[in-house]
Formats: sequence, structure tokens, C-alpha cells
Amino acid sequence: MNLVKWSKWVFFSEIVKGLGVTVKHLFFAKPVTEQYPHQKRTLPEGYRGVIVHLRYDDLTEKCVGCSLCEAACPSHCITVVSGEDPHMPQRRIAKEYILDVTKCVFCGFCVQACPVDALASSPEYEMATGNKRSLIMDKEAMLALGDRYFPVRQKRPKYLDERLALFKKMQRIGFPTAKQEQQA
Ligand code: SF4
Ligand code: SF4
Repeated sequence: MNLVKWSKWVFFSEIVKGLGVTVKHLFFAKPVTEQYPHQKRTLPEGYRGVIVHLRYDDLTEKCVGCSLCEAACPSHCITVVSGEDPHMPQRRIAKEYILDVTKCVFCGFCVQACPVDALASSPEYEMATGNKRSLIMDKEAMLALGDRYFPVRQKRPKYLDERLALFKKMQRIGFPTAKQEQQA
């Protein structure tokens, strides 16, 4: 054993050096601990938090109840019950939409699958609760979260108005029946 190694072994110099680093960080280094929940984290771009529903600029909901998100979800945590929009005939909506956040893995597949961009990953991550049933969200709860995190909304496509105008016109003049079509 050479002299340097021997002196290190006798005087515990490595331990003293390590303690020196500890003391330096204890008294002189800037703390890096985040004081959550008093200080909120700055989330990275593209952070995938709780899934929310979005609306168009006229506050109509975007979802058309197609269930593609339900099919794409690997955790089977989405349930969609589709139906006709009572305010806009021939347009379909999700009459009921249930998301079980306790099963969600925040993969974002549902957002990717949606053909009308009705879903988005919000930056919401504070969902801790003593009652896990409160984490089963319905469409209204998801829309409310969407309103909070995505206040800038996409303009509603014009074709929806055109379709409604055509429907109202046909209501006025009468829909063609199979008999009328045969005569024509
Ligand atoms: S983020 Fe993934 S796991 Fe969660 S609801 Fe969407 S598809 Fe399902
Ligand atoms: S959220 Fe999108 S994919 Fe899911 S039912 Fe509605 S329109 Fe279809």
C-alpha cells in the first residue's frame, strides 16, 4: 500500500471530503426543492393531464358521439352513449360521456382518435381526493375543465349551419316521401 492510500485509509479523508460537500450544499447552495403546493410547477410543453371536452366559439360542444375515442382507449375508461342533438336535427352528439380518470393512463390516444378535435389533454394534474368516485367524470365536468384551460375556441364550421338551414327548409316545404320519388 503506498503512502497516499495509507493516509487516506487512516484519516478517513474520503468521508471528510463527502461531509464537506454535504455541508457546502446545506449552508451555501441555492435550494432546489419546489415548495408545492404553495408554488406550482412549470409544466413542460405537451404535458398530458386530465382529458377534457372542447366547444366551438358559439359554445356548442364539438363531440359528435362517434365513439372512436372509446375504441382507441387502451384502458377502456371511456363510455359514450350517442344520440341526436335536440337543437340541431341530423347532428349527433354524445348524450352521455363518462371518463373514469382512475383508469386513465394519460396516453392521449383518445385525443388522436377524435375526428373533430373534441378532446384535449389539459394541464390539470391536481386530482387527489379521498373519494375515488368523484374521479368518474361526466361530459359536463369535462366541458367545464375544457372551458377553464382552453378559453380560445375554434370557429364552428360553416357546413353545420348550412345543414341546419337545409333541414329547416325541408321542414317547411316537406320532405320527399318514397312515393313522391317514384312518381318523379
Ligand atoms: S388518455 Fe389514454 S387511457 Fe386516458 S382516456 Fe384517453 S385513450 Fe384512454
Ligand atoms: S370525443 Fe371525439 S372521438 Fe370521442 S365520441 Fe366525441 S367526437 Fe367521437
